[in-house]
Amino acid sequence: MAPNQNLKWKTAFFTMAGWALACTASTAWSQAYPTKPITLVVPFAAGGPTDVVARTLGAAMTRTLGQTVVVENKTGAGGTIAAAYTARATPDGYTFLIHHNGMATAPALYRKLNYKPLADFDYVSQVIDVPMTVVGRKDLPAKDFKELMAYAKANGDKINLAHAGLGAVSHLCGVLLRQAMGVSMTTVPYQGTGPAMNALLAGQVDLLCDQTTSTTPYIKAGSIKLYGVTTASRLKTLPDTPTLAEQGLKDFQVVVWHGIYAPKGTPKEAVDKFGAALRTALKDPAVAQRLAELGAIVPPDAKLTPAGLQSWLQQESARYEPVIKAAGQFAD
Ligand code: ASP
Repeated sequence: MAPNQNLKWKTAFFTMAGWALACTASTAWSQAYPTKPITLVVPFAAGGPTDVVARTLGAAMTRTLGQTVVVENKTGAGGTIAAAYTARATPDGYTFLIHHNGMATAPALYRKLNYKPLADFDYVSQVIDVPMTVVGRKDLPAKDFKELMAYAKANGDKINLAHAGLGAVSHLCGVLLRQAMGVSMTTVPYQGTGPAMNALLAGQVDLLCDQTTSTTPYIKAGSIKLYGVTTASRLKTLPDTPTLAEQGLKDFQVVVWHGIYAPKGTPKEAVDKFGAALRTALKDPAVAQRLAELGAIVPPDAKLTPAGLQSWLQQESARYEPVIKAAGQFAD
């Protein structure tokens, strides 16, 4: 055989061998994954709705994955600190982020955002949709939304409206609520609506717009006042509570959707395995019951996929930009 033909055969052989080795290594890696605890970054403080959902699902996913899903609260700047941290994390399949509408609203809210939601992440799945409630401190002198409207018009900036920072859905809901009510209020930021709820319970603030995954137990216990729900129709879990739209805020609707993201370049096997464990957790009877009791709604299967999250994020990003620019709420 001519020397250069021999070389060609050798090159072909070693190429094939290298390819076979790479496939074997990748199969071995994906079969072994995960081999250590996985971090699920939560952009808000412990005790808030995002944290409640993350810990509930994380415990069930731990059982499926055989490795602990460790919830890490990275707070600040309405969730943008956690998103930036995750975008820069090593894409090795051991760091994921759970976040909500804030992934779509932040680019319109922050002039300087050091990550791109539509470019710096791999998409795992949508997670859960959660209604919001407008709640007040127990002794707020307004027994229903009609009286709250009158109280807000009379007291304006003397009213303290708590939220979890620019980019948080409680902030977005608060801004849209003031706009729809035609009133001004003083906004008070917290590291999450867990601490904001503590301030409301202590009477340090007057109002909060927060998710039912956090407010439901306090509403049922009678320790806060409930003025309305932010969905198009009433909730099965709060059937006697009118929507804000029923009470005069025409078309007022804010639903909190959630997604799970990985740093760009995370191995597809890890994204797929983490997504499959999430879908198993959402179907776990105990998890499904707890989330339903808290008013949370599991989206259809088609949304529980990387493509389902990616297209939804693109759609929501386009929808929110004009809304936020009209509200004129920006951070430098
Ligand atoms: N979801 C946030 C939290 O869990 C609150 C918010 O976005 O308003 O604290």
